[in-house]
Amino acid sequence: MGDIWIPIFIFIIGLTIGSFLNVCIYRIPRSDTSIYSPRRSFCPECSQSIKFYDNIPLLSYLFLRGKCRYCQAKISVLYPIVEFVTAALYLVIYYQFGTTLYFLHAIFFVSVLIPIAFIDAQHYIIPNALSLTGLGLGLGIVCIISYQSKDIDYLKMRLIGFVAGGLVIWLIGFIGSAIMRKKAMGMGDVKLMAIIGLYLGALPELLMVIGLSAFSGAVIGTLLIATGKKDRKSPIPYGPFIAGAAVVVLLWGDPLWKEYLQLAGWN
Ligand SMILES: [Zn+2]
Repeated sequence: MGDIWIPIFIFIIGLTIGSFLNVCIYRIPRSDTSIYSPRRSFCPECSQSIKFYDNIPLLSYLFLRGKCRYCQAKISVLYPIVEFVTAALYLVIYYQFGTTLYFLHAIFFVSVLIPIAFIDAQHYIIPNALSLTGLGLGLGIVCIISYQSKDIDYLKMRLIGFVAGGLVIWLIGFIGSAIMRKKAMGMGDVKLMAIIGLYLGALPELLMVIGLSAFSGAVIGTLLIATGKKDRKSPIPYGPFIAGAAVVVLLWGDPLWKEYLQLAGWN
């Protein structure tokens, strides 16, 4: 019975980190704020600083019914969504990996992917602050896992993934730009895929991320154009699709790959 407290604890940690990721998502792309200043959260509408009891993840949004206590401005529904998604992913990671080093590895990975996906979706940029954080945490945990399990191939595969990930996206962008005569892929995407290769390894994980993200990007892009939410000219950020595919491969890569091989008749 005591075991129920571990997942509850992990969910609450996830909500808290999700709340911090909201600060990153709001502040990193804006030049007039930084993660550290101002120290208190504030309402983007009336600039009133937010009391701690109005800043409780998920719950405060519900109690305030999605409105600022002072100016009644609508609070973006993205805040509770980011908090919930972070907490839910932490929980799934716990059930998938237990309390091992792989748990920490996966937690680092999704905690970098979430702000990258939301910032790219809103601003069409992937800030270096986040790619560098992902690179640092990734190198650290991959080295520790490789050392702990005395498995040098684990480290090798991930370094290859890092180089291959960046190179493949850079090449796709290079060829795409030449054909379409406009910028097809940003340097942010190149760095993001390099980091994904570092966390997941080259084969088959990186290949799966590229395939899944291209497929989901094409489907949703077509839907957005068909429903008139985007026109052919407007850019569609690729980062959220890469990040989403990476999470799927992180959690369910093995069974998906086996399923794919069977479908393709190679097994
Ligand atoms: Zn306000």
